[in-house]
Order: sequence, then C-alpha cells, then structure tokens
Amino acid sequence: MIDLQSILQDIYTEATKTQDKGVVASYIPELANVDINKFGVHLRTCEGTEYGIGDYNEKFSIQSISKVLALTKAISFKGNEVWARVDVEPSGNPFNFLSLLELENGIPRNPLINAGALVISDILISHFENPKEDFINFIRALTLDDSINYNEQVAHSEKITGYRNYAAANLLKSFNNLHNEVEDVLDFYFHQCSIEMNCSQLSKAFYLFANKGKCLQNKTHITESQTKRINALMLTCGFYDEAGEFAFTVGLPGKSGVGGGIVALLPNKFIITTWSPGLNKKGNSKLGMLALEQFTTKTELSIF
Ligand code: GLU
Repeated sequence: MIDLQSILQDIYTEATKTQDKGVVASYIPELANVDINKFGVHLRTCEGTEYGIGDYNEKFSIQSISKVLALTKAISFKGNEVWARVDVEPSGNPFNFLSLLELENGIPRNPLINAGALVISDILISHFENPKEDFINFIRALTLDDSINYNEQVAHSEKITGYRNYAAANLLKSFNNLHNEVEDVLDFYFHQCSIEMNCSQLSKAFYLFANKGKCLQNKTHITESQTKRINALMLTCGFYDEAGEFAFTVGLPGKSGVGGGIVALLPNKFIITTWSPGLNKKGNSKLGMLALEQFTTKTELSIF
C-alpha cells in the first residue's frame, strides 16, 4: 500500500527548497502580480480520496488548462467533425506560433495551441445559447462548485495585449476557419483563459478524463473513445514545445497553463494538480514539473 500523503509531503518539501523557481508570466500584465512562492499540490483518486498540500485551496488563473475543457464541450457537440477544422499533431513550437498556420492553410496543428483553441472557441460560440454563461456553468457542474468564475481584469488585460491572438484569429478568419466575428471569438477565448480555480477544483473537473468520460455526477459528457483521444492529445500536445519532455520525465497525460497550473492524470486511478506560478523557459511551471516527475518516479504510477 503506497502512503500517498507522505510521498506528496516529501515531494513538496523537496521542491520548495529549489532556489530557482522560474519566472512568473508577465506578457499578460495582470498575471505578473502573483507571488512566486505560492505552491500547492492536490491529488484525488478515482475513489474520491483527496490529498492536498500547501496552497492547493487558493485560486489562480487556469489559462490554457481551459483548452482541454473547451475541447471536451466542442467534441460533445460536434464529434468527429471537429477534426476537419483542427489537426491532432504536436506542433513542436510555442503556443502562440503563427507561421505553421499560414503554411498549413489555416488548419491549426492541434486544439491545445492558441490557434486551435480559437477554432474550438468558434465552435462553442456557434453552439451555446449564452456562450460565456453556458461554459462557466459546464465547469461549475463538473466541479459541483458554483463559486468558479471568470476574472474580468485578467480577461481585459489579455485583450489589450493580445496582439498575437488577434493575428491568429484574423489569419484563421482569412482561411474561412472562423465562422463568427474575430472580436466575439477572442472575447470568449480571453474569458475562458481567465477562469480562476484552485488545485482541488481542477482535480475534480478533470475526473472525467480518468473516468471514461463520466463526471462526478456520473453524467456521460464524452464517450470512452473520445476520452482516450483527449488524453492522447494532452500527452502529445499538452505542454507547449515541452510535451516530449513531460512524457519522458513524468509519463502522464496532462495540461499546463501560463498561470503556473498543471493537471495530470492516470486513467482509472487519479488526477493530480500542481500550482506554482514560476515558469521555465518553455512556459511550464518549474516546480510543478519537478514535483510531478518526483511523484511518478517515487510511486511508479505512470501510463508507461
Ligand atoms: N491566454 C493565454 C494566451 O493566449 C494562454 C496561454 C497559456 O496558458 O498557454 O496567451
């Protein structure tokens, strides 16, 4: 029997000793105000046992982690039709890289880079009646928690500095791969990135990926096969141009965000979420990567 609480405690203690905690993202000005010393780890087993250490109850900006939840909703609406508008290949490039989009005729490499996520936002605003309200309600239902919300300051901060996202959206529009107006798609996208959640809420929200597409309320959102595909995309595309490194050192499907969060999971077993706002050069949480690498090494729990 593995003593998860003491393993998590050891990892936490070890990681907090790290001198170089990385750098807090500042290209979205509102994110730069976060304390670099924050660090939380939370694990939830598929049976519902929870373990939390440090700042696991403090909310942070989930940023790109939202892309997995948006994709899930788009797949539940459109099924395989999604793949006509966005590919499933790792990009090997930063999240906001644009040249490939032009070369590949407006079909983004995958739904977890910004261009792909914009196409997913477009699909969602075409299908939802009240897009922002319906999306946040979807996340509240997954977590059984109505306190989850957008952070309007972060969404605004991102809008006024979002030159590359505007460029990507305009390029997509020029290739007819956006059906709604650029402003509407970006407004939805900036809001989804601004959602604030804590580690324990994220572990709950991602339970459906460890549980064959069924959420905590036992509602089926996506099929087993769709769940497998989303997990495959997280493994191959979930960590910017460091997805190979994450698979190599950690060995779990997961998704990171520039707010410093990482959610990873082992199907049928557990969901683990870390938050430490200092990022490495590739944009992934420095302590989060370290802690997760230690976790799968010490427990020998990975998909490989
Ligand atoms: N909202 C961020 C952007 O589009 C997301 C970045 C991220 O977390 O990868 O720039």
